[in-house]
Order: sequence, then structure tokens, then C-alpha cells
Amino acid sequence: MSKVIIIGSGFGGLSCGFILQKNGYDVTVLEQGTQVGGCLQCFSRQGVKFETGMHFIGSAAKGQTMHRMMDYLGMGDVQLDALAPNGYDTVALGGEHFRFPNGREAFIEQMADYFPKEKDNLRRYIDLVARIASASTLNSLTSDERDLAASTEYQTRSINEVLDGLFRDEMLKSVLVGNLPLYAAERDKTPFSQHAFIMDFYNQSAYRVVGGSDALAQSLARSIREMGGQVLTGKKVRRIVCNDTQATGVETAEECFYPADTIISTVHPARLLEMLDTKLIRPAFRNRLSSIPNTTGCFSLYIKFKENAMPYMNTNYYGYRASSPWDCGQDDFLYMHHCHEPQPRYARSGVVLSYMSFDEVARWQGTTVGHRGSDYEGFKRCRAERLIGAVEKLCPGFASAIDSYYTSTPLTYLNYTGTAAGSMYGVAKDIHLGAAGRVPYRTKVPNLLLAGQNVNSHGIMGVLVGTIVACSDLIPKDSWLNVHS
Ligand SMILES: Cc1cc2nc3c(=O)[nH]c(=O)nc-3n(C[C@H](O)[C@H](O)[C@H](O)COP(=O)(O)OP(=O)(O)OC[C@H]3O[C@@H](n4cnc5c(N)ncnc54)[C@H](O)[C@@H]3O)c2cc1C
Repeated sequence: MSKVIIIGSGFGGLSCGFILQKNGYDVTVLEQGTQVGGCLQCFSRQGVKFETGMHFIGSAAKGQTMHRMMDYLGMGDVQLDALAPNGYDTVALGGEHFRFPNGREAFIEQMADYFPKEKDNLRRYIDLVARIASASTLNSLTSDERDLAASTEYQTRSINEVLDGLFRDEMLKSVLVGNLPLYAAERDKTPFSQHAFIMDFYNQSAYRVVGGSDALAQSLARSIREMGGQVLTGKKVRRIVCNDTQATGVETAEECFYPADTIISTVHPARLLEMLDTKLIRPAFRNRLSSIPNTTGCFSLYIKFKENAMPYMNTNYYGYRASSPWDCGQDDFLYMHHCHEPQPRYARSGVVLSYMSFDEVARWQGTTVGHRGSDYEGFKRCRAERLIGAVEKLCPGFASAIDSYYTSTPLTYLNYTGTAAGSMYGVAKDIHLGAAGRVPYRTKVPNLLLAGQNVNSHGIMGVLVGTIVACSDLIPKDSWLNVHS
């Protein structure tokens, strides 16, 4: 049996592990942390659970792409709970609330209610979004030549440029990027295709994972083990060992050697380069990967609510005090409730995310979780109180429902997932960089493949696309991918 070592047990590593083990490979997933899941990890305090990364997924209704992929990945045991179909996202901007419903017609009608003069343009917009999203064979598991051409064009045009060309109403343009924290978009940089994939993905349907997104990781890890593979935690890979022509295995921090026929790295490129000390990797490649910019980091405020004090909010709430989401700062946020049981009446916990650059916490780099000092704790408390104030202004009653809270910063993500500068979604997409800004799935080490959010894109679907591309290198696509089409 051909031996595959996978570095990292996030959704990228575990989905690769599942597919390869199922298709006859002998898989070992090595995870540096004590828990599997990477950005799927959850933690519990005082009997209440909090999600640290993935909070909701799209296209998961029966027959839709994610549903079919979850079936293939043996995730029948993962329970999903639908967000409100008439408003899975709520954007609070300029003193008004705008809701995004699922479905093409519902979206057009709802947005046209807010912006009646733009109805025809809204139709053009939603059709363009659907056409671009369907261009990815792997996103929709169908494809069309014309769509592929459309997608390429919109990888080189910024979101704001395309919206400027479609709409006259400035407020509508702002509302449509109201969920930009989901992809950390930047004005003039982020390609419209990124926006289109996300909008289309959630327009189809939107769900939270009952009990937390770690259920996805646990399901995959359990299946890999049941099929005979291994998922090992507390195994930090320190070095990918190569001979003159290829990789022979990996060495972990405790100096254990794991031989491999193929290695798949799902970690951030910065972490990968630290492990690769071989002349097969040229300095130019090293420099290029190191210079790709990263998405912003975030400050997370995890709230435990008082019992029966906070009615469950079946929508994701994007609150802006800034006049446009493009200019969002410390007082702008994404606020979500955790779904601890199907259709809960009251929320037990929630999270508020707000952008935070690594520079703000750089002075504490090198310290470890729980031992960063009282000045760091004071810094986080200040930020938390400010954020609570900002949420309270838009969601009255929020502050008084809080029982206790916990916080994290980009340093926490750096520690727990190894993402460079604690970036939320790994490397950033920038229309100006073209191919130079992409992380390839193949390297000059012929039996080293890359997967995870830095190849292709972040998010459950973005990562899955990278997984499918990497796995297709080892198993003929026709033998398994056509199961879903
Ligand atoms: C705050 C936040 C909210 C998000 N919300 C959503 C959402 O609602 N919906 C959605 O679809 N997506 C969301 N995402 C994005 C999504 O969670 C990620 O894109 C995805 O989970 C990344 O998976 P990955 O496997 O590529 O990387 P990761 O999850 O980062 O996994 C990489 C793993 O590699 C391990 N590792 C690193 N170095 C080593 C080493 N040397 N040896 C061994 N192991 C190592 C890490 O510990 C980690 O477990 C969110 C992300 C964040 C941060």
C-alpha cells in the first residue's frame, strides 16, 4: 500500500486523508496541536462551547454540491441547522438593516424592495455571480466552456470595479459587500470571482453545524481511523526529509521519522518553507511564496450568555459603524450565535469577530498562550469592552445578557494553526499579482503536494476544491468524482 503522510489535520488535511484512505492509500495525518481540526476546533468554558473558525456552511441542502460532498465524505452523522432562509445574513449599515435571503428570485425581490430602481441590475448581478461560481467544475461538479472564460476574466477584476459597472446606488454596492469579513476582501485588490463564489455558495442555502464545526473534524478523523488510517495529534512536523530527487518522509519535533511515498502539506506556505531544506526548492520559489500577502487577522470575543437571556439569532449579523464595509475598523463586527441544539430558543454562546492586524499584538510574539503577561490581558480587555459597546449600540440588550467572555487575537491563531501573522484565511487574493500570488498544488519535490486553504481558496468549499485537485493527482478523477455528478 502506498504510504501518504499528511501534514495538518484541518479540514484540508482530514478531507485529503479521508479520500486517499478510502481509495486504497495508507494515510497518516500528523497534527501539531492536541486537538484535530485546525480552524474547525472548538473549546469549552464553564460547560459552554465556542467555535474558533468555521461557523456556517452553504450549498448543503439535499442535492446541492456541499451536501453531495459531505455524503461522499461519510459525514451523514453531522447534523446541520438551517439559518433563516429569508435572511441568513443581516447587514446593519447606515442605520438600516438589510437581509440576504436564499435563492435567486428571493434575493432579487428582497434587494429590489430596498433598492427598487436597481431591480434589472440586481438580476444581471445574481446571474453573473451564479455563472462565475458554476465555472469551477469542482465548485458545482458541472462545467461549461463559456462559464470558464467568464470566471477567468473576473479573477482579474476587483469586486468594487465590477459592482461600480453594474450599479449606480452607492448604498446597494456597500450592502452587497456587507459580508466581506467572510473573505477579508480589500478594495481594488480582491477579485470579483472570490465574492461571486461566496455569494453563490450561501445564496443556495446556509447552515450552522449543530454542536459546533468540530463535528466535521471528528467525523472525518473517526472515518479515517475506521478505514485503517492514522490521525495523530501532538506531532509537529519539523522537517520534510528529501534525498536528491524526492521526499522520503517527515521528521517530527520529537525526532520520529515517518517514511512516505507521498507527502501532502496543508499548512501555511510560511510554515512549509521552514520544513523544506532541500536544493530541489529553488530560492526564487521560496521568495515568491514568502512574499504573497496574507489576509488580515481578527480579534474574537467569545461570549457565554446568561441562561435564557439571549434569544437565538438565526442569522449572521454584520454591524458597521463605518460608512462602508470597505473601511471597517475596530467598531465593525460580525456577530454569530452558536447552535448547541437544533433550532434553539435561546443562545448559550456566541462570537463577535472584528479585524485586528498582527502589528497590534506583535510585541507579544514569542510568548505562549496563557503566559503573555498582564499588559496583553489588559490590551484584550480594553478591546473587548470597546467591542461590547459597539455591538450594544446596534443590538440593544447584548451587554446585559453577557455572563462572561473570553478573547483571542491573531497571536492565538498563529499558535493554534500556524497561519502566518495569525491571518484569518491564509494568503490573500490580489488581482495585481496574477500567477505570482498563487500557491501551486505541486512543487519541485515531485512527491510533495500542497492542499488546504492557501491553495485555491479558504472556507469549506474553497478547501475542498484544493483537496480534490491534490487527490486527483494520486487517484484518477473519473474513478471517484463522477459519483457526484
Ligand atoms: C474566525 C474564522 C471564521 C471562519 N468562518 C468560516 C465559515 O463560517 N465558513 C467557512 O466555510 N469557513 C470559515 N472559515 C475558514 C475555514 O475555517 C478555513 O478556511 C479552513 O477550516 C482551513 O482549513 P485548512 O485545513 O486549510 O487549514 P487549518 O484549519 O489552518 O489547518 C492547518 C492545520 O495544520 C496544523 N499544522 C501547522 N503546522 C504544522 C506542523 N508543522 N506539523 C503538524 N501540523 C501542523 C495546524 O495546527 C492546523 O491544525 C473561518 C476561519 C476563521 C479563522
